[in-house]
Amino acid sequence: TERTCAMIKPDAFLNAGKIVNAIVRSNLRINQLRMCKLTQQEAAQFYAVHSERPFYPKLVDFMSSGPILAIEIVGEDAIAKWRSLLGPTNSETARAERPDSIRAKFGTDNTMNAAHGSDSDETATTELDFFFGSGRVG
Ligand code: ATP
Repeated sequence: TERTCAMIKPDAFLNAGKIVNAIVRSNLRINQLRMCKLTQQEAAQFYAVHSERPFYPKLVDFMSSGPILAIEIVGEDAIAKWRSLLGPTNSETARAERPDSIRAKFGTDNTMNAAHGSDSDETATTELDFFFGSGRVG
């Protein structure tokens, strides 16, 4: 079994119940879940890998604009399964290509895209530590 870090972003916070339900229906298990609100600094740290990208300032503003839910998901192939449930990064692309996906249903655009999922074992470990470790945020 594998662990991944999911995050319900501020734009989808009010739809958290439906997104949690989608996780459970896919035979994935929620091992830890918490609500927090990231400061600009914390959001900047979470997405530091994108710090040189033109959309970074907008992403940091968005990610610190309201409450989020951080979720530890456990299950067989959890990283790939959760990313598949999310659909394409851009919500508009998701609506065209994967209308059943979470980003298609609950996302807005390329930045406000409803939810996040770790892209590898290594990032899952780092992100889970960020939200649930001893020096956790919030
Ligand atoms: P995430 O890491 O949140 O699961 P992802 O792996 O699909 O998403 P990344 O390429 O890692 O996408 O980008 C991280 C986040 O930055 C995206 O989820 C989105 O919120 C934002 N983002 C990515 N690309 C763009 C873009 N071209 N324009 C605006 N925002 C973007």
